[in-house]
Amino acid sequence: MSLDHRLIDLLVCPLCKGPLQLLRDEQSRPLELVCPADRLGFPIRDGIPVMLEPEARVLEAFPAPPPSPLPFPPTP
Ligand SMILES: [Zn+2]
Repeated sequence: MSLDHRLIDLLVCPLCKGPLQLLRDEQSRPLELVCPADRLGFPIRDGIPVMLEPEARVLEAFPAPPPSPLPFPPTP
């Protein structure tokens, strides 16, 4: 269990209070927290998520997955 996941569990979008998705770079380092509903990407600086709307990046075309819940936990 990584610290990342524990951190993400506590975080919701400051605007819609919805769940966030963690984006990672090629080295699987945390890059950005994305709210698919608002299409905003909140930056992660030095491992600290910046949950401020003025700091968020507007995502023009975020490939959001379908909102239907998964029937089973995703397999790694
Ligand atoms: Zn949101």
